[in-house]
Amino acid sequence: MLDVDRVRADFPILGTKVNGRSLVYFDNSATAQKPVQVMDAVREAYMVHNSNIHRGVHHLSDVMSGLYEDARNKVAKFINAREEEVLFTAGTTQGINMLAACLAESEIGKGDVVLLSEMEHHSNIIPWQMACAKVGASIRVLPIKDDGSISIDGLSDILDEKVKLLAISQVSNVLGMVNPIKKITQACHENGTLVMVDGAQSVPHLKTDVKELDCDFLVFSGHKLHAETGIGVLFGKKDLLEELPPTQGGGGMVDKVTMTSSTYAEVPQRFESGTPNYVGAISLAAAIDYMMSLGMDDIIEHEKVLNGEMMRSLGRIEGVTVYGDGAERCPIYSFNIRGLHPYDIGQILDKMGIAVRTGNHCAQPLMARLGISGTVRASLSFYNTVEEISDFIDGLEKAVSILE
Ligand code: PLP
Repeated sequence: MLDVDRVRADFPILGTKVNGRSLVYFDNSATAQKPVQVMDAVREAYMVHNSNIHRGVHHLSDVMSGLYEDARNKVAKFINAREEEVLFTAGTTQGINMLAACLAESEIGKGDVVLLSEMEHHSNIIPWQMACAKVGASIRVLPIKDDGSISIDGLSDILDEKVKLLAISQVSNVLGMVNPIKKITQACHENGTLVMVDGAQSVPHLKTDVKELDCDFLVFSGHKLHAETGIGVLFGKKDLLEELPPTQGGGGMVDKVTMTSSTYAEVPQRFESGTPNYVGAISLAAAIDYMMSLGMDDIIEHEKVLNGEMMRSLGRIEGVTVYGDGAERCPIYSFNIRGLHPYDIGQILDKMGIAVRTGNHCAQPLMARLGISGTVRASLSFYNTVEEISDFIDGLEKAVSILE
């Protein structure tokens, strides 16, 4: 089992006092805290190795280029991909925008359809709306059931020859439930439909295996995985990436350039124009090293304990509705308490040093489907404890008594 006290010692920010109380950080879906191991790796990168990559013959450039490519290799192993299938991006949002722009130049054309589930984050909606508008394609919605799950039969019914791509989160940032991606990719591939998985909320909590999922593309953000902001990953199956036209030109992505035309570098460099966030990539590698040193199995076991405790404790609060009801879930809990505004609850919790998020969580279509304008969201990580859940529940009960 995870030694949570020892783990917490790696995250100095968790010792912060807020309003005179020990911080309870339950906003991990927005961004996760960083262990000293990641901060040390970033510091070392700037103190000892800093140099632009891939362009120099000198020692530092060579070392930094090696570290950057080592980071790619580490990410590839973490998600069971090939090295050349891992593109570094600025984060989930940029990865989806880049993919949507590339696909709109190739796979998605006039009259085609992009299928989006009803639970998607705005970052997995708007880039597709833009791409569809550009080429004359349209969006179709994959509805969710009342319990927040996806129906595979419903998916099969909605697929036809026009649907070129399904973009879907593996775990919704509101519902926390794990979508059956393997079954979804199977149904889509039978129809010749590509699948892009938004892994922003799943990669930090699950073992990710792109071969097992058989997804065509997967995106995620480093900062939700305990690395720096401004770094993320777009995985794509190699044969698909090789067919995609790059949409951003510049240094580093070319083979031969004349004033009137250019040929491009191989995948993945073809999609990484300009100076990449190489220190961010090092931070991501350090975060992955850190999580592997804890062990994903132990992380998952501990989060299961947190899940059980959270479900039991929330269920005891009078008038509570928890959105998303799956057996397999990540520790992300969105809820409302009858008659109370989420924002008011969030503010009172803050007074007690408890950080949660309130609002629509960049998922307005899902809020509309649920018939609400917002929720309180408590999202946990492996460094959170059962004692913190108890403080959170005490805080909620106090908020209820004040607001009622
Ligand atoms: N997709 C999901 C499911 C998310 O939860 C988020 C962020 O909360 C994003 C996409 C966007 O991630 P980022 O802001 O790191 O690009």
